[in-house]
Amino acid sequence: MPRSGIREILDLAVDREDVLRLEIGEPDFPTPPHVIEAAARAATDGYTKYTVNRGLPSLREAIRAKLAARNGIEASIEQIVVTTGGGTALMETLLALVEPGEGILISDPAWPNYAMMAATLKATPIRYPLDREAEFEPDLDVLDALAADPRAKVLMINSPANPTGAVWRPETIERALEIATRHDLYLLSDEVYEEIVFEGEHVSPAALDEDGRVVTVFSASKTYAMTGWRLGYLVASLPLADLIAKVQEPVVSCATAVAQKAAEAALLGPQDCVAVMRDAYRLRRDATVKALRAADLFVTRPHGAFYIFADVSKATDDTRLLARSLVLDHGVAVAPGETFGTRGAGLVRLSLASAPEVLEDGVKRLAEGVAAWGAKRGAEPR
Ligand code: PLP
Repeated sequence: MPRSGIREILDLAVDREDVLRLEIGEPDFPTPPHVIEAAARAATDGYTKYTVNRGLPSLREAIRAKLAARNGIEASIEQIVVTTGGGTALMETLLALVEPGEGILISDPAWPNYAMMAATLKATPIRYPLDREAEFEPDLDVLDALAADPRAKVLMINSPANPTGAVWRPETIERALEIATRHDLYLLSDEVYEEIVFEGEHVSPAALDEDGRVVTVFSASKTYAMTGWRLGYLVASLPLADLIAKVQEPVVSCATAVAQKAAEAALLGPQDCVAVMRDAYRLRRDATVKALRAADLFVTRPHGAFYIFADVSKATDDTRLLARSLVLDHGVAVAPGETFGTRGAGLVRLSLASAPEVLEDGVKRLAEGVAAWGAKRGAEPR
């Protein structure tokens, strides 16, 4: 199994106080106080025990209402499984669906954990390209051809996307569902960044799904700055939700009870904290686009999530080595593009979920590092 290049850089940077941290996708905001208070209350009220595999009925009721109001997904609470983060929801869905050797269609670039999940399951990753020129949307004819692979079982999509920041157009989402339907694939839609959209519209393919082939994954992590609570959820057609809930038993049994109550408070409470964070990410996005353009490192303007690529191809093709040197010699941590797939070559990813001053200085250090590497490269004998 490949190791996550993001985690490799994080491990290198974590104990170095002078390093500006732009590698990990984690909101720098604290969890909203009313959520923390609800969790503390839940602990004293006795939410310290196992819950049913699927999660507390009161939380699933809050999720059901949110899915109907926000995502256009009509589901019963039996179709909802609460998990320890979106990551576990994805892995448990793949565990339920995929046999060794079967194929999982994964975008290139994509969050590295998808390929790690495929490797763990001895499944075959089938990578479909996202075009930089098309703002990292897929070429649907290419996707269609790859989906015809007889091994293919699941098509994974992720919009708003990590690492590209793309928000796929509604017609692209519709076509992806149509391709999954025509080739009789499950569609696993990772929507953990659903609330972080600056331009465009977030569309859930499950709202258009007529035959129960879509599994949709959401998370409290990014929406409510709750990464450490490990709380996500999925919605699937009924027999599949039953199967995933069954799979959850040997994996983690259930999500942590107090974290479930915290998520319930987050979903039922005021939503202005979500807008405040989104607006902050947008300002950081705008400032970073400007800084990357000025440094001649600009790639595309992200429309959602909280990541941006920088083009470092003039320094080197080996972004892993470059990212290590950026930590050790230039005091900035970024995610090496190669960890996201072959199409990440020559790119590094910066997280916009970092404080504005950290981003500003981080881009300066990145530009210095790239210039130093570029000068070295220029001096090499050809
Ligand atoms: N999906 C994507 C695309 C992500 O970037 C992440 C986290 O970085 C996750 C899922 C999982 O997040 P969590 O397990 O914290 O909900």
